[in-house]
Amino acid sequence: MCGIVGCVGTQKVVQDLLAGLTALQHRGQDAAGIVTYHQQFFEKKGQGLVQQVFDENDLLHLEGNMGIGHVRYTTQGTNELKNIQPITLQYPLGIAMAHNGNVTNAPALRKQLLEEYQIQPQSSNDLELMLHTLVTALQQHQTLAPNPAQLFEAIEITQQKLEGAYATLVLLAGVGLVGFCDPSGIRPMALGKKETPTGTTYCLVSESTCFDYLQYDTVDYLQAGEMILITPTGEIHRKIGRQKKQHFCVFEFIYFARAETKFYDQVVAQQRIRMGHLLAQQLKKQNLQPDVVIDVPSSGFFAAAGLATALDIPHQRGLVSNKYFGRSFILSKQAERAHTVQQKFNCIATVVAGKKVAVVDDSIVRGTTSKHIVQLLRKAGAIAVYFVSAAPPIVHPCIYGIDISISTELIAKQKTRAAIEAYIEADALIYQTLPDLISLFNTLAINVCTACLSGNYPTPDAAQAIQYIEQERIDSKNRS
Ligand code: AMP
Repeated sequence: MCGIVGCVGTQKVVQDLLAGLTALQHRGQDAAGIVTYHQQFFEKKGQGLVQQVFDENDLLHLEGNMGIGHVRYTTQGTNELKNIQPITLQYPLGIAMAHNGNVTNAPALRKQLLEEYQIQPQSSNDLELMLHTLVTALQQHQTLAPNPAQLFEAIEITQQKLEGAYATLVLLAGVGLVGFCDPSGIRPMALGKKETPTGTTYCLVSESTCFDYLQYDTVDYLQAGEMILITPTGEIHRKIGRQKKQHFCVFEFIYFARAETKFYDQVVAQQRIRMGHLLAQQLKKQNLQPDVVIDVPSSGFFAAAGLATALDIPHQRGLVSNKYFGRSFILSKQAERAHTVQQKFNCIATVVAGKKVAVVDDSIVRGTTSKHIVQLLRKAGAIAVYFVSAAPPIVHPCIYGIDISISTELIAKQKTRAAIEAYIEADALIYQTLPDLISLFNTLAINVCTACLSGNYPTPDAAQAIQYIEQERIDSKNRS
């Protein structure tokens, strides 16, 4: 997963881009980059967190009233410098691009670019394929400054050639800031605006939380297949391109997005609370009566709160996490991951000792976190541990940009619920049910992508894509 932010207005945008990327840091910590435009492109990219990549000099040298930025979480390609986004082409058009998502037909696109256009991409990044595909479509108009109709036609051609999930930002020299989404709207993009003393600034972002920090008002959320052009003078052109039925990524709501973010006007935290309410039904059915509900910090917090409210028992902070310890999830070796999880969590014994504890996490992927937490709670004196997952079992790899793409690593694909319960040594293991989760979003009129939970992939040739993306991930994790 990655985060994107783009701004265009009447003042220098670098400050807003930097603040926007900082607000989106949870979406990717591997690398960050910004490209701005004022008669020429200005660029700064590097590995690491936003604060490590940028310094005060960048505020001066990244000139221009329009720009785009990206935080990267590697799910395709390696984390080498050439793979860091945005990617810029000076010729033939003057174009920079950044995206959040995964193109699932990258091998076919690569072949087509080579055979039909003699273009040899230099990186292993799917974004470069998308960039060249759009450029070849734009070139048909033989103009440096395509009008909105020409631009949208070229994006639609690109959407026809690409398969997968993408929310993409484009900076087109002299033309403006462009955004476009995949036909199923799997990845999010929101539009905001802010009035300044010199005029209006517009912003396109992955998550609306950026607007709160930057004092923008949310204008809208882009629809599946939608394209938008915002010119430096503030003209907005929008059109629906290639569109299929909406399949918005359910994992954005479950785990990925910040709790205060809104997608389609729905606050993420609220949906997590509702997931907790639904989980209460599962506990009741199994006649489980915990004394206290605790959360796995921090993404289990709101589901735990919802569960406790629905069961009418206390929700307390029974676990603490060391937020400076880095991420356990993307480490390539299981032993490293287990070690990191051990260093990351600790238990507040007085909260759990002598109690039946329901502990809620957003999801179980490999079972590393859940197994360790059950051990911790028992050691601290819990008399029963019920492990509760706000997500249903993850049984299929994600090919759309969430780093759960290696099927052999998914514990629920390898083991039954009872076997996982035994493996993590919980007294009970309670999963959200898929029908409950889907019905929760049906009530909001949001049709969600549940591919990792149901195997229903909304894009064609998923079996082929699973194979190629899985192999690509295994290879690049081995290289890193
Ligand atoms: P595991 O320990 O492998 O079962 O992973 C589960 C933990 O990883 C949970 O605590 C989640 O909060 C977290 N998690 C779930 N999905 C992801 C993801 N795609 N990237 C990073 N962390 C994740």
